[in-house]
Amino acid sequence: ATRAPVPPAAPPPAVAPPGPDGDVLRVRELRVAFPRDGSWTVPVAGVSLDVRDGEAVGIVGESGSGKSLTALAVAGLLPQGAVRTAAALSVAGQEICDVPDRSLRRALGTDLAMVFQDPLTSLNPALRIGRQLAEVAEEHLGSSRADAHERAVDRLRDVAIPDPHRRARRYPHEFSGGMRQRVMIGMALMAGPRVIIADEPTTALDVTVQRQVLRLLQQAREDHGTALLLISHDLAVVASVCDRVLVMYGGRVVEELPVSTLLAGPAHPYSRALLASVP
Ligand code: ADP
Ligand code: MG
Repeated sequence: ATRAPVPPAAPPPAVAPPGPDGDVLRVRELRVAFPRDGSWTVPVAGVSLDVRDGEAVGIVGESGSGKSLTALAVAGLLPQGAVRTAAALSVAGQEICDVPDRSLRRALGTDLAMVFQDPLTSLNPALRIGRQLAEVAEEHLGSSRADAHERAVDRLRDVAIPDPHRRARRYPHEFSGGMRQRVMIGMALMAGPRVIIADEPTTALDVTVQRQVLRLLQQAREDHGTALLLISHDLAVVASVCDRVLVMYGGRVVEELPVSTLLAGPAHPYSRALLASVP
């Protein structure tokens, strides 16, 4: 296959100032490019953002604006063929700009956890829930098998799974969608991450269960100071949890707002249009 040797040159240098100490996420001029017909398509075209320790930041934006690819790039989970470049990219103070994707998840260790819209994409259908949680403890905390099982049951209890000892022996298909998402949050919290990136974590859930899931993310913040980058197309969800909101459009952050401003009337024409379209 023919393809251009490198992605197109980056746009002019980022004007965003260096983040203060205590940033858990620091992203400068992040680009994600895919080769196409000997050229490149660049769905993430220079994203810069910071998440400070313990802060909850939302990302909103229309479908296709590059929200998910931004998250996947930070977590080292980009699809095959994607090329990531950035002027700076750090998680919990560790610069990961030059770490190749295949090594990134290991390099990130316990600092970052991700929660996706559909828990079934992350759960092994053939493995008991308790075992899947226990494996995280064995891998990241070096727990013994018995200790890991105890921790698994504890995390299930933390995320309000009833009868956690019994449910630990069940398989993913035996859980409701809402319970599976709570399990995923329990799993994300297992290794004590500094930051959780949640990509549309409540989108597939009904409103009551949405509230439970958001409550768990807030709880992690209150109890452990876990920072949150919450991606959602649902402004009400973001407003209920986040301190400030980034609006993405066309692969860039076009506006950054306090939540009160988001609801009162943002300046950027795109943000106004986005809000006007929300029922
Ligand atoms: P969002 O999460 O904001 O809806 P995404 O980050 O998933 O948007 O995708 C942004 C754009 O990148 C989309 O327009 C999509 O077509 C493109 N894209 C996503 N994945 C791939 C891929 N594997 N190859 C080529 N283009 C992709
Ligand atoms: Mg998405």
